[in-house]
Amino acid sequence: MTSSSRVVVVGAGITGLVAAYELKKQGFDTTLLEAADRVGGKLNTTDFAGMRVDESADAFLARVPWAIELAEELGIRDELVSPAAKSAYIFSYGQLRPIPQPMVLGVPLDFDTLEASGVLSPEGVARARLDAERTENLVVGDESIGSIIRRRLGDEVLERLVDPLLGGINAGDCDNLSMDASAAQLAHAARQDPSFVNELTDLRRRNPPNPDAPVFYAHPDGMGRFVDELADRLGDTIVTGTAVTALESADGAWRLLTSSGIFDADVVILATPARITAPLVADQSRVAAAELRSITYSSVALLTLAYDRDEIGHPLDGSGFLVPKPEQQVITACSWASTKWKHLGATGHAILRVSVGHINNDRAVHLDDDDLLAEVRADLERIMGVTADPTEVRISRWIESFAQYTPGHLSRVATIDDALADDAPGIFVAGASYRGVGIPACIDQAHQAVRSASRFTA
Ligand SMILES: Cc1cc2nc3c(=O)[nH]c(=O)nc-3n(C[C@H](O)[C@H](O)[C@H](O)COP(=O)(O)OP(=O)(O)OC[C@H]3O[C@@H](n4cnc5c(N)ncnc54)[C@H](O)[C@@H]3O)c2cc1C
Repeated sequence: MTSSSRVVVVGAGITGLVAAYELKKQGFDTTLLEAADRVGGKLNTTDFAGMRVDESADAFLARVPWAIELAEELGIRDELVSPAAKSAYIFSYGQLRPIPQPMVLGVPLDFDTLEASGVLSPEGVARARLDAERTENLVVGDESIGSIIRRRLGDEVLERLVDPLLGGINAGDCDNLSMDASAAQLAHAARQDPSFVNELTDLRRRNPPNPDAPVFYAHPDGMGRFVDELADRLGDTIVTGTAVTALESADGAWRLLTSSGIFDADVVILATPARITAPLVADQSRVAAAELRSITYSSVALLTLAYDRDEIGHPLDGSGFLVPKPEQQVITACSWASTKWKHLGATGHAILRVSVGHINNDRAVHLDDDDLLAEVRADLERIMGVTADPTEVRISRWIESFAQYTPGHLSRVATIDDALADDAPGIFVAGASYRGVGIPACIDQAHQAVRSASRFTA
């Protein structure tokens, strides 16, 4: 790309911010258009109980490099913190039980520990043990996580361990989530050995995990710190309150029609969710638009509750709990944030972050605040015995926020890229709808989009 090329990035979530930052750093004529009056998209940190507390994502995976490298680049790497509590619970057969270790993405590796945990029924454990004896044909297409785990380890491992974890991450349903797109580590194991447990145990033997290595990192000022650092560096490259409404081709370049006028570009990076991107490219590529439109989304609510620590009446001795679908009333997961993160425990409050809603059931997400809070409090009493009144409550709704990577997702994304390359050269897509929902994956996709854009005009 030559530095005279005009690049417009649409959407100032983490993907768009990183893409625009990288382009600007490389000296290109960059504009970042954002519909809302704030940047960050799904990352939003606000004041709560006298602290800065995230309203959505609050941490990122440590085993992939991209978010850590960004922290380094922004000069905040040394400020990152890892969870103070490592153990977590699962609410199964009517009580909170420790998640059995070791496990890989919900797949238990030690059946004796699994049995002792009580998370599965005796029949569920017996069925899971059969995994070690499996001899079936290895060929696996892009099946759902559910179909493979049910077949190899049984329904209970899927419903009470794997789905709470992997379905939970995407507010999805493992019976309709692609293993290739949502759990690459399991997909690889599934193709190596008919027994998941044998293969995953072998893998751990060959690459033993460091028990002291953090699994997650956070920033004491919240994920908003990344957003603020990027926004500071981008300055007036960012144009907020500007929704892109249409894209037109214009003399070998692109014209963006927006709520605040026209912007011209040689290259456009659409870092918006696929459901928003679809109509923007519909006139340019019917194939891409159809595939983009076929990506569905789930809605969630995240309630943050503060309690007087002496009043809550629970030891909060872990990072929180997950609730498998067969046990759910309204809560899907709850982080004991003031135990999990030292900085959130500093003021003496007990802080709970409660998740509600998934792809098969978002009824509660749409309740009014009073009804939603009443249902969540009743569920906290059922699960944790908490009856105390919260001293502060915040409700954050994230409607149509989690793209569902259904079977075939990765080939769908490849089709989108190919169709745009053929029908709308110079338009690229990136972000959580495509190759990973987590913050690190979004950052990686931003870099990939910048590389594609560079190659395009080279
Ligand atoms: C409740 C919740 C908890 C999460 N927890 C974690 C976690 O702990 N760890 C983790 O790694 N990930 C987590 N995630 C996922 C992660 O936060 C998101 O996948 C990621 O932030 C999405 O970034 P993005 O840039 O792809 O999209 P977005 O953040 O959705 O950004 C898209 C931007 O485009 C803008 N836009 C939309 N339409 C237009 C238009 N027409 N014109 C201009 N701009 C437009 C939007 O306003 C938005 O700012 C969580 C997500 C949620 C909702």
